[in-house]
Amino acid sequence: MKSAPLFDAHNHLHDARLLPWRADFLAELPALGVHRAVVNGTREGDWPTVAALAAQVPWVLPSFGFHPWHVNERSAGWCETLLHFLDAHPGAGIGEIGLDRWIEGHDPAAQAECFHTQLAIAAERDLPATIHCIRAWGALWDIIREGAVSARGFLLHAYGGPAEMVRGFLARGAYFSFSPSFLHERKSAQREIFRTLPAERILVETDAPDLAPPPEKNPCPITDGNGKPLNHPANIVVAYDALATIRGTTRDELASVVEQNFTLFFQP
Ligand SMILES: [Zn+2]
Repeated sequence: MKSAPLFDAHNHLHDARLLPWRADFLAELPALGVHRAVVNGTREGDWPTVAALAAQVPWVLPSFGFHPWHVNERSAGWCETLLHFLDAHPGAGIGEIGLDRWIEGHDPAAQAECFHTQLAIAAERDLPATIHCIRAWGALWDIIREGAVSARGFLLHAYGGPAEMVRGFLARGAYFSFSPSFLHERKSAQREIFRTLPAERILVETDAPDLAPPPEKNPCPITDGNGKPLNHPANIVVAYDALATIRGTTRDELASVVEQNFTLFFQP
């Protein structure tokens, strides 16, 4: 029997840190069963690279957005440029966008303004928005609760927020993607959240080259030039297998539910 196809709901395959392995994994991922992968830009400077990868690789779904870490690199015309990329790529998503109060030197006002603008574009065009949030859950909830969101909902990627907030986000249309980094021992609260989430709101991701699983659960360890671990996109299999175990199901059963969710959320 053929295995169910796999979908990586969030990664950065265009990232220069993955360049030494790119040709290999572009061939390897479809062989592993990866059917589609959402490749997220994080700033104006990398949107052309995301677009080029999507033009080259038919299973890459591009997403364009300003990541909270990079909001201070915005040009005066950043929003027009974003609209241009969205117009030129029908079916593209908006991401990676969000709020982050963990990164050093963050500018909460600039982050909120940039996030709000992008979320509004997603809502107006009913595009899939992919949201990053670290240590800014209250501020994120304030925007999500009151602001317009896409009719199709939004994705909270690698959800690291509190369990108590899940219900509110679900009511506003959230999807939640499971990351291989949740296999770190200390991430037990995240594993518990994903055990009980409604099946119809679950997606799976790698966030490659970031958020690697712990070394003992990483079949494809790679590092950058400084020896820092990177997450190989083939770890999508690790994420599916771990989540299937957590939810007491098989990889194939999980994969068929995730396929439906992915298709619904990311459909053009
Ligand atoms: Zn990311």
